[in-house]
Amino acid sequence: MIGRFAPSPTGLLHFGSLLAALSSYASAKHRGGLWRLRIDTIDPGREMPMAAQSFVGTLQAHGLNGDGEVVWQGQRIARYRAVLDMLIAQDRVYACDCSRNARAEVGAIDCLGPCRRGEHTPSATDTAWRLRAPSHAIRYHDRRLGERSEWLQETCGDALLWRRDNLPAYQLATVVDDHDMAISEVVRGSDLLDNTARQCHLIDSLGWSRPEFLHIPMVINATGQKLSKQTHAPALDNSQAAANIYLALQLLAQQPPTALQHAPVDTLVSWAVAHWQESALQTGPIALP
Ligand code: GLU
Repeated sequence: MIGRFAPSPTGLLHFGSLLAALSSYASAKHRGGLWRLRIDTIDPGREMPMAAQSFVGTLQAHGLNGDGEVVWQGQRIARYRAVLDMLIAQDRVYACDCSRNARAEVGAIDCLGPCRRGEHTPSATDTAWRLRAPSHAIRYHDRRLGERSEWLQETCGDALLWRRDNLPAYQLATVVDDHDMAISEVVRGSDLLDNTARQCHLIDSLGWSRPEFLHIPMVINATGQKLSKQTHAPALDNSQAAANIYLALQLLAQQPPTALQHAPVDTLVSWAVAHWQESALQTGPIALP
């Protein structure tokens, strides 16, 4: 049993990040497993200076210590390229240099356009690579949301695996790392749910086994907006770590005892691991007070 938390350093960790980190930690540890930290540094253009460096300290302050070395995606580009080359050799992917406009002509979905149909030969350099979406629905199970099914050709088209600026795309890096790190359960926020069918299709195409999935409810602020860097979610305050964990446990419907309200962070995290109850997670979004 190995779980993970995999933040991108596009901003500092906020309360929504804490709910994902704590849920994935408590779930893995409750089942006697390991919890690994990966920092998703594959998009230098969107990264906030020093954010990544702050992640380990913030998580430690909140009593969440990763097992083993931290994995940095930025150091694994050659591995992602090797997996892409394997998919190229198997003709599972195709090169695409369609502009945004050309793609827009075929709807909101990604590609399924001239490059896929072989009506247009992309230039030899600066091409993106896309994974052909299958002509059947992708089914998967989410431990909170149940059986799900998605017809990728209709929802998002052919997933981008390699970007035109010669960087791996999120779907490829995530799937390769989860496989190489032997991740057996992916516990993350529902804002990432849209990616799951694409990731399952990629995992299946590579002949790898899928992890289990649990998407925790989305966190919204007092005005009903999703908590994110874009909606200016405040960074976690390490000096309030114990209070943050207590509130996170309340919001995750774990009902921490009032006697623990002023307990130190390690006591709270140990309680969370011992008493973790996935079935208590609510179905609707979690509203911050
Ligand atoms: N790095 C991604 C993000 O912070 C999450 C990766 C994942 O959990 O699959 O949005």
